[in-house]
Amino acid sequence: MIYAGVVIFMAFIFISSGATTLSMASGKESPNAALISSIIHRRDGSTMASPALMFLSTAHASESSFASEDTLNTSPQATEKLDVVASVSPITNIIKNIGGDRIELTGLVPEGVNSHTFELVPSDVIKVINADLVIINGLGLESNLEDAALEAQSKYPKLQILKLAENTITPAQWLFDFSFPKEKGDPNPHLWLNVAYAMKFANLTRDKLSEMDPQNAGYYSENTERYISLLKKLDEGILQAVQTVPPQNRKLLTYHDSWAYFATRYNMTVVGAVQPSDFGEPTPRELVRLIDQIKSERIPAIFASEVFPTQVVNQIAKESGAKIVETLSDDVLPGNPEEPRHSYIGMMLENMESMLTPLGGNITSLTDIDPRDTSH
Ligand SMILES: [Zn+2]
Repeated sequence: MIYAGVVIFMAFIFISSGATTLSMASGKESPNAALISSIIHRRDGSTMASPALMFLSTAHASESSFASEDTLNTSPQATEKLDVVASVSPITNIIKNIGGDRIELTGLVPEGVNSHTFELVPSDVIKVINADLVIINGLGLESNLEDAALEAQSKYPKLQILKLAENTITPAQWLFDFSFPKEKGDPNPHLWLNVAYAMKFANLTRDKLSEMDPQNAGYYSENTERYISLLKKLDEGILQAVQTVPPQNRKLLTYHDSWAYFATRYNMTVVGAVQPSDFGEPTPRELVRLIDQIKSERIPAIFASEVFPTQVVNQIAKESGAKIVETLSDDVLPGNPEEPRHSYIGMMLENMESMLTPLGGNITSLTDIDPRDTSH
């Protein structure tokens, strides 16, 4: 993340030093916006001074995914398949199950990177500019990607943006909580951990792909039907599995506050989150409060994840006597891309094992579910 920030900042300096296209003097443009508009300008066939592009090719020479200067000339409609750019891995995987091999799909947020603070590198910006469709969760989750997509769309109105969360629930259904307090404005954005909402994500994706690519509408529709029937099994299996947890243990205290919509769907209660709303570290006072809460509510386990630091969670566990589980995941898929479990469904199945077993439940209602992708 720091690296990405440095990259953007350096690009800013390179561009501003050689720019013929930017108006930096106002100081109103963010480095990201400056980078985006400079790359967009270049795609228009203008004669922008080269430092920015020199920077791109040197900074990313080692990246196999680097989009070369040639790719800047691709028009959004030039390729036969729809070019779709998405954000976090679980959402990208849901889209993959609908679009199958009839779309060209790229997920931009690398696994293991904090999606809330993810920043685009220049090659990401090029992918956004060349996309036909950008699909994001929205509700403030991927604000840098959203800004880039809007900036690109202002130049290329054919580029479409689909915000899944905004189209799945109304503002009245937004949840504000520990790390996403109402006074900060953005609600908790983690809708996809509620499988009923994931089904809506699948349907919204089908509708948008079918609208933009009507020739393949039948294909998208069949894929969606197959995928939704598996998601229904997953949803019902989770509902049953949670019922096996003793009622007094159906409490979630996590490091990262991502289970709000899951909890309302599956009758659990999020009793707290360790991570403050600025995604920094909790203060010693907050830690003491959490430890007291765990003791007084007899919370059996607290949950961390691969993406976020566990040191502070270790400390809470040690002082409160709660068991620590470090494997809960909201945006990293398990295993490597070749493995069947490397999917949204696989992630949810592993989450249920990590979450419900230490709380005293079992997941026998989920054992028959095949996590592999269903698109043909
Ligand atoms: Zn998150």
